[in-house]
Amino acid sequence: MRNVVIIGSGCAGNTAALYTARANLNPLVVSGHEPGGQLSLTTLVENFPGFPEGINGPELVNNIRKQAENFGAEYKHATVLDTDLSKRPFRLNVDGDWIEGRTVIIASGASARWLGLESEQALIGHGVSSCATCDGFFYRGKKIMVVGGGDSAMEEANFLTRFGSEVAIVHRREEFRASKIMLDRARRNPKIRFVLNTVVDEIHDVSAGLVSSVRLRNLKTSQAWNEEVDGFFVAIGHIPNTAVFNGQIDTDPDGYIISKGGARTNIPGVFHAGDVQDRCYRQAVTAAGAGCMAAIEAERYLEVEGH
Ligand code: NAP
Repeated sequence: MRNVVIIGSGCAGNTAALYTARANLNPLVVSGHEPGGQLSLTTLVENFPGFPEGINGPELVNNIRKQAENFGAEYKHATVLDTDLSKRPFRLNVDGDWIEGRTVIIASGASARWLGLESEQALIGHGVSSCATCDGFFYRGKKIMVVGGGDSAMEEANFLTRFGSEVAIVHRREEFRASKIMLDRARRNPKIRFVLNTVVDEIHDVSAGLVSSVRLRNLKTSQAWNEEVDGFFVAIGHIPNTAVFNGQIDTDPDGYIISKGGARTNIPGVFHAGDVQDRCYRQAVTAAGAGCMAAIEAERYLEVEGH
């Protein structure tokens, strides 16, 4: 029986591990299918407080893990396949073995939705990104392309005009999911150009290890062409990793956990941390803060129970 089981090993999970380990609760972290979370997909992180020269994403998240391990946190490289949160102790199926926990911290994150092209996957971190806040700075004076037609795409495109010489928004339809205010802001921005009814077929140049151009295709005319691009941002939504809690933890229609205040979920003793509940900020520093909050709540919850 564990005092605390933490699901996820990104910034949120690792920070929750650090705090609960330091409180002598011997947490077990199930690191999940994307160990290190979103940070492990980025390069230089320049906006995490305390690192004036910046720090590489994978190094940052690994440092937090080491810090947690120094205080006794235990990591298991495995995935939670199923859960029973209907009664105490909570039960989690971890790669086939059921383990029990007095409290659970869900820090399973939200995975960026990708287009699914092989070339896209090969160039993540080398010109392909899912986070304008993280990587926009690298494209000062460069040509940028953003894919998507929702608020995220509009927000990222507007933000990226601070850096890029031009930003093209490629969207597969003429209608947008984006709110009118966000769409109007993008339309008014002289650096933004819309490429509509268009899909991305290929990103070049995998062999050179950088983005140089993109193969586009108009769905109405079938015309295909190449456009020179330096930075390619995918903003077609995120998928919160909550499938294994289906029907147990309250989520919104998109699957994000609904917070009951602080780090609390609808189940007492089960707490949330990071992007699995946060569709708004999604920053390393906010995830770390959320991990800290969940840890303190778990600690107090166990203390009241006399553990
Ligand atoms: P979203 O609203 O679901 O929009 C996703 C967009 O990506 C859609 O335009 C969709 O096209 C497109 N898309 C999805 N799969 C695609 C594919 N395989 N290939 C090409 N295009 C694809 O997602 P979001 O923009 O991330 O927003 C999510 C939620 O967060 C929304 O509720 C949004 O309002 C909110 N949000 C708010 C703010 C803000 O207020 N500041 C900022 C960001 C996000 P179709 O339209 O054709 O399906």
